Amino acid sequence: MPGGVNSPARAFGGVGGKPVVIQRGAGAWLYDIDGNRYIDYIGSWGPMILGHAHPVVTEAIECAARLGTSFGAPTVAENEMAELIIDLVPSVEKVRLVNSGTEATMSAIRLARGFTGRDRIVKFAGNYHGHVDSLLVAAGSSAATLSVPNSPGVTAGTSQDTLILRYNDPDGLREAFDQHGQSIAAIILEPVVGNMGCVLPTAEFLAAARQLTQRHGSLLIFDEVMTGFRVALGGAQSLFGVTPDLTTLGKIVGGGLPIAAYGGRADVMDHVLPAGRVFQAGTLSGNPLATAAGIATLRLLRDDPPYARLERLGARLELGLHRAAEQAGIPHHVARTGSMMTFFFNSCPVTDWDVASRSDTARYGRYFWHLLDQGVYMPCSQYEALFISAAHGDAEIDQTIQAAQAAFASC
Ligand SMILES: *Cc1c(COP(=O)(O)O)cnc(C)c1O
Repeated sequence: MPGGVNSPARAFGGVGGKPVVIQRGAGAWLYDIDGNRYIDYIGSWGPMILGHAHPVVTEAIECAARLGTSFGAPTVAENEMAELIIDLVPSVEKVRLVNSGTEATMSAIRLARGFTGRDRIVKFAGNYHGHVDSLLVAAGSSAATLSVPNSPGVTAGTSQDTLILRYNDPDGLREAFDQHGQSIAAIILEPVVGNMGCVLPTAEFLAAARQLTQRHGSLLIFDEVMTGFRVALGGAQSLFGVTPDLTTLGKIVGGGLPIAAYGGRADVMDHVLPAGRVFQAGTLSGNPLATAAGIATLRLLRDDPPYARLERLGARLELGLHRAAEQAGIPHHVARTGSMMTFFFNSCPVTDWDVASRSDTARYGRYFWHLLDQGVYMPCSQYEALFISAAHGDAEIDQTIQAAQAAFASC
């Protein structure tokens, strides 16, 4: 495998050294093949909000597997899954299931272009929307970590219709719409960014994105692949009270299996084939194992919402890390929404990619290794958010803070 991995973020390129190889996970813990165990803060980069190998989710997958793993024909489970998403996510009136977040964003921008008859897409520096060619510019996370903001193989022609703007800059957005409003099909954004580290939006920024798209006949797409069912049961859109036209979902929606979705206004979604003419298809879309895991996960989140508890645990970890860093005299900024957080080795509040990119990544690497040696598995890049799961408890949080105190003392 290139670089030894199937996805670049796993290769520890942002912190140096060799990745550990995982054997299994249970609750808040990861176990490697050498017999070490770690408190897990990556949660498979977002999906595992219920912790690893949750018994109810595992049981649902086992039951589904016995009935056949793929049919390529409609099932009841797909309908249950669609109903759950429509019930839980405010903007979603109709939804299409796909297999990955990348597919969801790719399909959503195709739909936005097909619906509006326009070409241009606005995206923000440091926002990642999967490895869709036209969105793989200034794309944060793995790309930023490995210093390839623009991938070879993405042609100038493909990316020429993508306008890159600064996150949290309503004036820049206004200027872009003054100049190009007639040709902008959609704005796509992470309503809380996870992919340049955790960066929170300002209310003015989200309001400007909503108003400008409405005024100019463009669509607003919230990429909630990371924030959906994470920052709140109804995603960031329910948290901030801003309703986009289209929403992309992934990660948690599949409960650890490969499923994702895009959905939104019924009149827009009705442009997707076979209701409309915008092509999008998938052999394994709505796969029975994936829908079983997704349904089980969403029902657990709906019937026993962990969000108040996750907020409490997140606040506890934030305060602990902040105090420990202050004691050690380490310049830092901690950004957090609920159970999604980044400790930036950066003396400035991080509001956009320009500020984020000035973080002390070498120091982050030393911090990461100190923690790993003490059994705490943080994201292997300064530019990835950490996640707390419902399986974490005060004991894990406090053990993490203690390990961080030791790490700060010598990093
Ligand atoms: C992870 C992520 C994606 C890509 O999802 P994949 O399933 O990895 O293709 C897209 N957008 C956001 C915001 C993400 O965090």
